[in-house]
Amino acid sequence: MFRDSVSKFIEAEVLPVYEEWEDAGRTPREIWKRAGDIGILGTSIPEEYGGMGGDFLFDSIVLEELGRYGVAAPAWDMHSYIIAPFLIAFGTEEQKRKWLSKMASGDVISAIGLTEPGGGSDLRQIRTAARRDGDNFVVNGAKTFITNGHIADYILLATKTDPEMGNKGISVFWVDLNSEGVRRGRNLKKIGNKAQDTAELFFDNVRVPQENLIGRENDGWTVLMHGLVQERLVVAVRSVVIAEAALDQTIAYTRERKAFNQTVFDFQNTKFELAKHAAEIEVARPFVDRCIELHAKGELSMNVAAKAKLWTTELADRVLDDCLQLHGGYGYMWDFPVARAWADARVHRIYAGTNEVMKHIISRDL
Ligand SMILES: Cc1cc2nc3c(=O)[nH]c(=O)nc-3n(C[C@H](O)[C@H](O)[C@H](O)COP(=O)(O)OP(=O)(O)OC[C@H]3O[C@@H](n4cnc5c(N)ncnc54)[C@H](O)[C@@H]3O)c2cc1C
Repeated sequence: MFRDSVSKFIEAEVLPVYEEWEDAGRTPREIWKRAGDIGILGTSIPEEYGGMGGDFLFDSIVLEELGRYGVAAPAWDMHSYIIAPFLIAFGTEEQKRKWLSKMASGDVISAIGLTEPGGGSDLRQIRTAARRDGDNFVVNGAKTFITNGHIADYILLATKTDPEMGNKGISVFWVDLNSEGVRRGRNLKKIGNKAQDTAELFFDNVRVPQENLIGRENDGWTVLMHGLVQERLVVAVRSVVIAEAALDQTIAYTRERKAFNQTVFDFQNTKFELAKHAAEIEVARPFVDRCIELHAKGELSMNVAAKAKLWTTELADRVLDDCLQLHGGYGYMWDFPVARAWADARVHRIYAGTNEVMKHIISRDL
């Protein structure tokens, strides 16, 4: 029933205006509120904090429906399934009461700031600094590639509170992006995910009350590591459903399209390409389902999450590239879902930890 309501919502309220959002390079606040109304934003936020009180299975349903329709924005996955869990796990009772219900209702839009112009893979090298000053911290630095950077109200910001201590000197804050000293830079032009705003952010003596520290001071590394398993699984779930959708679309398209007096589907090359990917996807699906199941019980390891992210994102890119090719010139046209998906999914190998970083994690256990 929940899947059905998400699907109807996307068809009625997202698809008809999606292209306008792509042209604008951002999503309007009203759609966040509408998503909040039907529960999409708070699926696994506990009921006492304004959510539906479900688990990652419900999050996955939303992720799958968005992926199935090729909807890469709004970044509800980031807001609800990546950022909210940090507050749930590490927020004080007061922080949870103050922020989670507003996130679930869409009144507050959130972002996460880890990556800096100098690098994203090596988080120990974060340079954005937070210096204690009485009851406040004073933040200086810059972040880049920040999803929701233009539209967000708050950012979960990774800073260095002790530059001498490497990863032990990191602290995480919930920062009001409308504070004095915050400057939002360009909305970066991307090859895909065009309806999502992705921005540079600059912090110049921004005062953050100490009540907005998430977790303990200098223990931000623990906070950040906690979220990585789910973040990678979110990407894996999206990747596998995007591959499934592209395969379905390509079967339908090639069955219609004619060349040399037969359908494109009837060429042996087409059947072999589609058969190969049908097999790969069918093998990937139960693995990802099993990961979802394990994660819902809190048993998915960092290593297996890395394998899921690595495998599914590379699978999706292989499938999408071949599916685009089987569409001929139409596959290169933005109006065709396979073109959008091809461009949108490419980033899955880059964010949530690059696939090279995934290989490092996997190799540690070999
Ligand atoms: C559309 C988009 C949205 C994003 N949204 C956010 C966001 O909301 N918040 C946020 O904080 N970040 C965000 N990011 C940033 C993303 O997480 C980083 O781009 C990513 O972590 C890689 O960091 P980098 O770009 O600095 O690449 P680098 O770290 O400079 O890496 C460059 C290359 O070197 C490779 N490399 C690095 N280290 C190693 C190693 N040890 N071994 C082998 N190869 C290595 C990488 O795999 C990569 O191929 C987003 C990025 C994009 C493109």
